[in-house]
Amino acid sequence: MKPAWLLLVALAAAALSTSARSQGLDYGRIEIATDQIAPNLYMLSGSAGLDPAHEAAAGGRIGVLAGPDGILMVDAQYAELADKVLAAVKRISSAPIRFLVNTHIHRDHTGGNAKFAKLGATIFAREELREGMGKARSVNGSPVPASDPAAIPVVTYGLGEPVKFHLNGEIVDLIPVRAAHTGGDTMIRFENANAIMIGDYYRNFGYPFIDINNGGSLQGMLEALDATMKVARSDTRLVPGHGTIIKRADLIPYRDMIFAIQGKVQQMIAQGKTQQDVLAAHVTSPYDPTVPGGLLPAAGGGTSADRFISEVYQELKGGGR
Ligand SMILES: [Zn+2]
Repeated sequence: MKPAWLLLVALAAAALSTSARSQGLDYGRIEIATDQIAPNLYMLSGSAGLDPAHEAAAGGRIGVLAGPDGILMVDAQYAELADKVLAAVKRISSAPIRFLVNTHIHRDHTGGNAKFAKLGATIFAREELREGMGKARSVNGSPVPASDPAAIPVVTYGLGEPVKFHLNGEIVDLIPVRAAHTGGDTMIRFENANAIMIGDYYRNFGYPFIDINNGGSLQGMLEALDATMKVARSDTRLVPGHGTIIKRADLIPYRDMIFAIQGKVQQMIAQGKTQQDVLAAHVTSPYDPTVPGGLLPAAGGGTSADRFISEVYQELKGGGR
């Protein structure tokens, strides 16, 4: 017979893994894969099939610009993966991580901020992001506590001219976009690598996500897509926070889809329909076969299609912003 303490340890371990699973994520099983997309630019992403909110790759994608001048990182994944992310960065380069830029506030992009700041990185982000991180907030109705003070960006900027880095022979532009996926979105362009990290205002797994509670807006999302089309060349690689890397031409059907759905919802509002009526009409159905993950459950309840339609309805009903 096993001693009682061993049974207790086993029970405690089982309880821990159950609580990790009950949050939908078993971080211990997630590995970080590295893809080199230019001579000194790398993309890191989590394992597929382990994060219900992001089936294609757990958490948000990270960019690493490496070289003798030190490392610039874009985004910082879930806090729980910070040690694995650090190990992946160290496999690329032993240079210090000097700068960290956040595309937006969500914890699958900023969770590791405190870890990298404590290692010496200076965090850059939009003013709106800094403001949001300093207070308790909610995402999809789930409370998010105020962040560790170390996680909060030190250098902030508004909607003006891009912030430029000259590092490792590369020019990196932090280009602010109007309130889109959240109120503090930035696209990050690597001029020589001819790549732009576009955060989550575009996605190709699930329908668009406008996080109204964190300042996102439908109008801003359309403007952000337009702004990206202006900045990108036809052969520029556009790297979303989740899903596959795309080109400029891929933005066009995406934007058209948002416009078409906006038009249908607007029409139903004009006919006096309620949000429930609009959800019941399944206005995304022409797009469902071509939007992978569109009908999977999204955080906050319902499918990602339902979440998107609800956001469009609320913004249009509220008269836009
Ligand atoms: Zn996001």
